[in-house]
Amino acid sequence: MRYNISMVTVTLTPILRKGIKYACIAPDSCDGHCCWGAGSIYIYGEDIERFLKYFKMTLDDFLEKHVTVDEIPCHHFKHDKLIPSLEIKETKEKAACHFQTDKGLCEVYKVRPFQCVGYPFWKMNTKNKAAWDKVVVFCPGAQVAPAMADAHFYTAAEIKKLVKAEQQAEYDWEKAMIDWKGDYKAYLRDFLDKKKLER
Ligand code: SF4
Ligand code: SF4
Repeated sequence: MRYNISMVTVTLTPILRKGIKYACIAPDSCDGHCCWGAGSIYIYGEDIERFLKYFKMTLDDFLEKHVTVDEIPCHHFKHDKLIPSLEIKETKEKAACHFQTDKGLCEVYKVRPFQCVGYPFWKMNTKNKAAWDKVVVFCPGAQVAPAMADAHFYTAAEIKKLVKAEQQAEYDWEKAMIDWKGDYKAYLRDFLDKKKLER
């Protein structure tokens, strides 16, 4: 059964409940450091579907060339085993996503993973003041966007939608990995076949 995200209550810190202007200001005024950090760029089935079309690659080749497989605990289910987690490969120097150029640009911007599209509006960043304050310290875009004329204004509804979508993606992945006993390749082949039939 699919997770019903309409049942999920999203709690936003008060500043975000009023909506907020936000913009990324890389590479001119930021080095792109939100794309750094070991094991931090998760990808899911729909991300992989987009990447395969973009790169015109097979699943096996894509996984071999661009993906690291880690093992993580479930957050949404009580499950006593670790499950596979697919993450974009990182550079050795600063654990930067390997799709980031030396100048801090994203080489795959048009098809970047959902996690990147939604940043910084993730549950861990939006749930309370302390969490959002950390984003503001970390991200120069969050610091200057409120004063920028052309920064997008994210309404509370937009922010909640992104947070819910993130929860949905995590939930679906965890459920699939439990159902498929961690065989992520078999699951992804099945997922991609079903997507082809939908078109
Ligand atoms: S830290 Fe903020 S400004 Fe810098 S690249 Fe990331 S989103 Fe953009
Ligand atoms: S895919 Fe692009 S936006 Fe996402 S972490 Fe990598 S370089 Fe950054």
